[in-house]
Amino acid sequence: MRTVISRAVLLGLLLLTLAGAIIAQTTAQTTAQTTAQTTAQTPAQAPPPAPATAHFDPQAATEAYLARMTPEQRARSDAYFEGGYWLLLWDFLYGLGVAWLLLGSRLSARMRDFAERVTSLRWLQTLLYAVQYILVTFVLGLPLTLYEDFFREHQYGLSSQSFGGWMGDELKGVALALVFGGLALTLLYWVLRAAPRTWWLWGAVVALILLVFTIAVSPVFIEPVFNKYTELQDPALRGPILSLARANGIPTDHVYVFDASKQTNRMSANVSGLFGTTRIALNDNLLRRAAPPEVEAVMGHEMGHYVLHHVSKSMLFFGVVLVIGFGLLRWGFDRAAARWGERWGIRGVADPAGLPLLAALFAIYLFVLTPVIKTHIRTEEAEADLFGLNAARQPDGMAEAALHLAEYRKMSPGPVEEWIFFDHPSGRNRILMAMRWKAEHLGEVKP
Ligand SMILES: [Zn+2]
Repeated sequence: MRTVISRAVLLGLLLLTLAGAIIAQTTAQTTAQTTAQTTAQTPAQAPPPAPATAHFDPQAATEAYLARMTPEQRARSDAYFEGGYWLLLWDFLYGLGVAWLLLGSRLSARMRDFAERVTSLRWLQTLLYAVQYILVTFVLGLPLTLYEDFFREHQYGLSSQSFGGWMGDELKGVALALVFGGLALTLLYWVLRAAPRTWWLWGAVVALILLVFTIAVSPVFIEPVFNKYTELQDPALRGPILSLARANGIPTDHVYVFDASKQTNRMSANVSGLFGTTRIALNDNLLRRAAPPEVEAVMGHEMGHYVLHHVSKSMLFFGVVLVIGFGLLRWGFDRAAARWGERWGIRGVADPAGLPLLAALFAIYLFVLTPVIKTHIRTEEAEADLFGLNAARQPDGMAEAALHLAEYRKMSPGPVEEWIFFDHPSGRNRILMAMRWKAEHLGEVKP
């Protein structure tokens, strides 16, 4: 679901793209396939966890977990994940191609001219341009989106959704992008007109405010559009999860479950929202496929994000990213517009016809920044892992979760590969972390 949202919004909308990144970062943990081969791996049938004895060796215990993957399973998850590296590049180049097409063919200028013929109100012209831009980029991006989010997910057995259902979600995403993106762009262009010299600074401030707003309203207005959220009923799970929450200072009486199984086979849980809307939710795949220790380990991880204030800390991080990015935008836009502005029919930065140029420049910036952003997110994920281990005290549950996740994430990357591409620690490192924790808590671990 989050890919649907972030894709729909990616339609040139810089700040909402960032929102997608943040929503994605707090989305954890595990995935699973409902294929026959992985059914053989469900915790119920799994070998018993390594016993905590005086001779417990974390490294050997990690290898024992890793050995539960067959060579075929490993090859498959490596192929899926490594394919994602290339998709990063293709997405980036494709986006630049779309921007170039809109500018070079002067389609962008014609969309602005049309908006100006319809109304003389500046804000309404911007809104009309934004609507056309979002629709056109959605249609032009559809072939790649189709391959990436529908056919490829089915090819690897990660999706459970029919084409109609998938397309329905895409269209809902576009509708949301039209509402939120249309308003956001109207506001941003008002800033660009009002502050011709310092727009980059005020633009970054407004983008950050919009990002915070998007994350805060997400559990109320965005997530329910795609999934149904209900209260977890099973007392055997509800009790321990609420107990874990109380023990860690999380004031809630609610445990939410959402019906992700209609879209995907991946198990996941997440923390979303900001201020009053923050909530932790787990998906029905996790409930169905994981044993209670694994669910507790995952929930401990999610509570870590909450207790360690990862969402607000990420806002600070992305605030800095936005200010630097808008500064570079100003520099890049002025140079590009001086050179090609006339040919593309762009009058200046406050002219909506220049949006594809702004979007392309920002995409270049984010692309270069990939390892920095991934490392920021991965660092918080590792913190949440450690918090979850200390809170839930389920090292084997955490190892099981990491093993489930291996169905779509490469298990043992090289260190540089992990640094550039991983927004969570690799499965091997997560299991090793859990086994080290276990080695230091011999005899205390829950059975
Ligand atoms: Zn996480």
